[in-house]
Amino acid sequence: MIALVDCNNFFASCERVFQPNLEGKPVIILSNNDGCAIARTAEAKALGIRMGAPYFEIKDLCRQHNVHIFSSNYTLYGGMSRRVMNILKNFSVQQEVYSIDECFLDLSGMPDLTTYGQRIRKTVKQWVGMPVCLGIGETKVLAKFSNYLAKKHPFLNGVCNLAELGETRVNKAMQITDVSEVWGVGRRIGKKLQLMGINTVYDLKNSNPKQMSKIFNVNIERIVYELNGIKCLKLEDCVPPNKQIVSSRSFGQPVTTADALKSALTYHIEQACKKMRKQGLYAKQMIVFANTNRFKDDYLSSSINIEFPSALDSFRYMSTYVDRAVNAIFEDGIKYKKCGIVVNELITKEFEAKDLFDNTTIKHDKLLPTLESIKAYFGKSAIKLATANLSNAWQMQRGFKSNNYTTDLNEILVI
Ligand SMILES: [Mg+2]
Repeated sequence: MIALVDCNNFFASCERVFQPNLEGKPVIILSNNDGCAIARTAEAKALGIRMGAPYFEIKDLCRQHNVHIFSSNYTLYGGMSRRVMNILKNFSVQQEVYSIDECFLDLSGMPDLTTYGQRIRKTVKQWVGMPVCLGIGETKVLAKFSNYLAKKHPFLNGVCNLAELGETRVNKAMQITDVSEVWGVGRRIGKKLQLMGINTVYDLKNSNPKQMSKIFNVNIERIVYELNGIKCLKLEDCVPPNKQIVSSRSFGQPVTTADALKSALTYHIEQACKKMRKQGLYAKQMIVFANTNRFKDDYLSSSINIEFPSALDSFRYMSTYVDRAVNAIFEDGIKYKKCGIVVNELITKEFEAKDLFDNTTIKHDKLLPTLESIKAYFGKSAIKLATANLSNAWQMQRGFKSNNYTTDLNEILVI
């Protein structure tokens, strides 16, 4: 048996852990640059705040109903996610962390899964304050569906075990659930299925898998099998390393200076390098890009491809190319909206090419471990490259950001 554990309104719940007075009150989280609502508590949903609603449109409504607003704080959410996943890991022989707030657990061989599920739920709530729901089923697709039911029906008390619910009730639930709710179906394929008369989860379960494979693809065929309790999808416990890493972001306000672009790119290089080093990856080249507002007529986008003389994982070495990149792409009088970097052709140490005509040997930055330990001890901004400090005109607007309670000693909860 497989469980899917999913945190309830994850971002909003993270904020509530540190401000428990917000329990039972409407809370929303805004996207980068405080653009639109990307997470809402049940109370906020009840006020009619849509997913993705632009902040300027709901500002008055929020004021009227005293909705608590937060800018997104991914440092906090990442920290909370790690804690939740670490607790969940102990309840299973195998865990697949599927997203920041969801994981699959292999519960085979465990007795009385409903009680076990309640224990998991209680532990996570007690240890880190995070409310979660569990869906238990024979396959990943069924566990996902089961979780959907756990969220939807309060009488289940956060844990839905399909085996205990029984076939009749499960079929009934499938008959009243839209086919696009099935994991892996989505809206586009859901629409096509509905044109074929497959409207509900139950219809899809009873469709012909081979025919589905012909009309769509093998993934839909597998979903049909999985809905029938036949395992096709395994739990993946190791995530394959990235083939490409992107770090980019919209600016809080239009950027018109080369200095601001340089500082922003230095930041993105450091972010990408952090991800690369975590996975033991090295880059042989990077693409640097900047663009203006793509919703305007005079949209402009420029980029440059930079090849390194050797494979790198050092933000210090990679940042030495920032000047060259900005000189190549920056134009005076242009209002830039976004910039970023893409690192392609990532390699691991084992695949380091030592060809006679290839100069891609890995270049090690001996200062890097020292820089990393200074940051680990004194905080992320304790030591910086000078280019990172040229200008902060590119920074995000985060007017409602909470503290970094879990990662910064200066910002821990004060009681
Ligand atoms: Mg969730």
